[in-house]
Amino acid sequence: MSLFPDRLDRFARHIVLPQVGGAGQVALARAHVALIGLGGIGSPALQYLAGAGIGRLTLIDDGQVELSNLQRQTIYATRDVGHGKAVSARRWLANFDSDLAVALNDRRIDAAGAGEAITGVDLVLDGTDNFATRLAVSDACVAAGIPLLSAAVGRFQGQVGAYAGHLPDHACYRCFVGDAFDAEDCDTCADDGMLGAMAGWVGTFAALQAVRVLLAGAGGLGDPQWGKLHLLDGLAPSMRTMAIGKDGACRGCRVNDG
Ligand SMILES: [Zn+2]
Repeated sequence: MSLFPDRLDRFARHIVLPQVGGAGQVALARAHVALIGLGGIGSPALQYLAGAGIGRLTLIDDGQVELSNLQRQTIYATRDVGHGKAVSARRWLANFDSDLAVALNDRRIDAAGAGEAITGVDLVLDGTDNFATRLAVSDACVAAGIPLLSAAVGRFQGQVGAYAGHLPDHACYRCFVGDAFDAEDCDTCADDGMLGAMAGWVGTFAALQAVRVLLAGAGGLGDPQWGKLHLLDGLAPSMRTMAIGKDGACRGCRVNDG
């Protein structure tokens, strides 16, 4: 697969980077990413993934655009209020670059439906705002052998981690948070408030890490950083990184030797 001349021009600033190059750009064009949660994290992440020329995107969100979303959910405008987020996101994407293939899913993701929702993708980027969904997505990723970028933000604290729990030596998201939150629905955003640009920082950093994972096979940016959790502090501001080890007893990713 090669890139047509108009695509070469579109991605010229990528292609001149030694860490991307023509081969890397082709790898991005071949990639299929599922975005789960098209909110404060998913909106800017979608903009940078689409800008990066990710060839196929699956957009997953069961919510509707509300007026209070517009302060941080950058793909929506006033006219989208009251319309479905997945449909509105697809419209944004079609306006931005009609060469990108898009599928949408406006059903709520739960443990029963997560696997079907992510079938065939190369990477899942989860920016949803509750633990039950995030754990269901993590378990589905492990079962399907799909890497997961999990991103979250609350007030001025954000976190972005890359998980490859399907691999024997790497943690999954459940290794990190445990089982206690399966029944929780912690939508702290509505209660606690959120500075719009903070969500944007986390979403764009998640997009950077997604590109890092997708380019890892092509040399690219090197290490996909499995099991590394980056903590973003918007008040200091600062970033720090911690390592998440595989939990041998984790019911999401333990090896079944029976
Ligand atoms: Zn695990």
